[in-house]
Amino acid sequence: MDKQSALREYFGYTAFREGQDQLIDAILAGRDVFGIMPTGGGKSLCYQIPALLLSGITFVISPLISLMQDQVKALEEAGISAAYINSALTSSQMRTAFSRIRGGQYKIIYIAPERLMMDGFLALANDMEISLIAVDEAHCISSWGQDFRPSYLKIVDFIKNLRKRPVVAAFTATATDVVRGDVERILELQNPLRVITGFDRPNLRYEVLSPSRKNDELMRILRAHPDESGIIYCATRKKVETVCDLLCAYDFPATRYHAGLSEEERRRNQEDFVYDRKPVMVATNAFGMGIDKSNVRYVLHYNMPQSLEAYYQEAGRAGRDGEASDCVLLYSSGDVRTARFLIENGEQNEALMPMEQEQIRKMELKRLSIMIGYCKTEKCLRGYILDYFGQEHPPLCGNCSNCTEQFEIRDFTREAQMILSCVKRIKSKLGYYVGAALVIRVLRGSKDRRIAQLHLDEITTYGMMRNTARSDIHAYIDALMAQGYLVVEAQHQSLRDTEKAREILFGGQKVEIRVRSTEQPKEKKSSRKESTQSSDLFEQLRILRAQIAKQRGIAAYMVFSDATLHDMARKKPKTDSEMLDVKGVGEFKLKRYGELFLQKIAEFK
Ligand code: ADP
Ligand code: ZN
Repeated sequence: MDKQSALREYFGYTAFREGQDQLIDAILAGRDVFGIMPTGGGKSLCYQIPALLLSGITFVISPLISLMQDQVKALEEAGISAAYINSALTSSQMRTAFSRIRGGQYKIIYIAPERLMMDGFLALANDMEISLIAVDEAHCISSWGQDFRPSYLKIVDFIKNLRKRPVVAAFTATATDVVRGDVERILELQNPLRVITGFDRPNLRYEVLSPSRKNDELMRILRAHPDESGIIYCATRKKVETVCDLLCAYDFPATRYHAGLSEEERRRNQEDFVYDRKPVMVATNAFGMGIDKSNVRYVLHYNMPQSLEAYYQEAGRAGRDGEASDCVLLYSSGDVRTARFLIENGEQNEALMPMEQEQIRKMELKRLSIMIGYCKTEKCLRGYILDYFGQEHPPLCGNCSNCTEQFEIRDFTREAQMILSCVKRIKSKLGYYVGAALVIRVLRGSKDRRIAQLHLDEITTYGMMRNTARSDIHAYIDALMAQGYLVVEAQHQSLRDTEKAREILFGGQKVEIRVRSTEQPKEKKSSRKESTQSSDLFEQLRILRAQIAKQRGIAAYMVFSDATLHDMARKKPKTDSEMLDVKGVGEFKLKRYGELFLQKIAEFK
């Protein structure tokens, strides 16, 4: 068999994606590789196909015990025999696995890195032919990355102790130069073929919103995605709890995940999500690495993450099947405070010197400011991301909120004067500056006790912006900051006017702000352009898929992905060979499910 027929027969695809065939060819030719591809780019195929074609066994080293089982199941669904070894196996299960491995029953074995050094494992490994060691999520080896796993450092010892060095292949979605260097050096890759594919994910639509009430916006978005699977990321465990409770109270099928839950509950909730029993997951960033659920239709960030790398990785969990999906970030200025707090009070890495710690903090604050820039940019959002990853792109993508929504430029000189003079008057009344929240309350004429106590209700700007929404005043303040008329002092977070403010107050300087147009936006580039007929058929196929998945006790996407069902609904195959033309239908799945789906399509008028 060659790689092309393996792709067709086992995975049902006709063409390789960018980078896949180069990486596969190199591995088959016996060369180490290092593949850097975005989440959903198709890294697994790069080691699964060689595993099928090479004579010996392939070890896949992965940090995620909880997911190995799913990965193995998905392979078995495609007709590939695979097994996993991790600490979740009992010793008798382990013995059975070992004897089957010895008997040469598997082509692919998933293994947790700490198991490599387990008693007897090396002897077992040296007893068989190992063709390939694939290291998934390879960035975990670097202490400069976001997900450092000390057990990853053992991989190289294991390889060195093998009788014969197999080909070593490393894969990751995130790698800054430092992390890239670490991976190659620590894993001791030998003259690896490096493949860095484009980072763009054209099927993802990016959107940034700054709603005055996030919960209302959240509900609106969820209602726009009925029966679809999505992830909602929150900055803190507490927020995860309240958002999940809220959704459940409104009967959304939501579950939750964060590091404060018991291992048992985390496992259960994750499974409910993966198997679509609870298709909406509310989680902290502890959730998701390696989650291989291809039908996630939206990733919503309730809070801004701490870095664009983290955001891109989390948002990238949407639409792995290549179908249109939404990535929405709900931004508020409070998110900046939370993120700063989390960085300043974050876990310390004991292994580092205080100076290194300080350096890391600085780097994190720098990353945060790039993230904030994403939330505030008026340019193409995709362009902003690709610029950051150093990739060329057209100026407008046409598939992000900044490209598709209309904005208008408005003069807000009058509002700016009120805000700046309020800041000045509070300072002269109290002798010190205060935070933006208090300034806004004074402007809106709040009856708050604190304001009365400080006699701030006596200054002339008190209540001058009574009829302006809080979020609008916030936007004006943001714009004044961006244009250099106001600054926030780091230590007390107090809002101060700059020298330049005089130009607006006394110099006749005009200021403008870019606001979302209240007119209907241009025809929103909708992800789903399908005819209603094929979308009705898609729904029927989805129901059939759910029945099959339930019967077999596997996740729906393991039967067929959403992309496959969409293609099927479009092509409406009538014969086995037409069915094989559908993206994602291989020989094995044709045998197993072809008849059921063909029948359903035939019944559809
Ligand atoms: P990664 O590990 O890089 O995040 P995966 O390996 O999970 O991504 O692949 C993401 C999705 O893309 C999977 O549903 C996979 O079946 C699909 N895929 C991979 N390669 C191809 C291909 N050549 N053609 C079509 N779909 C593919
Ligand atoms: Zn754009």
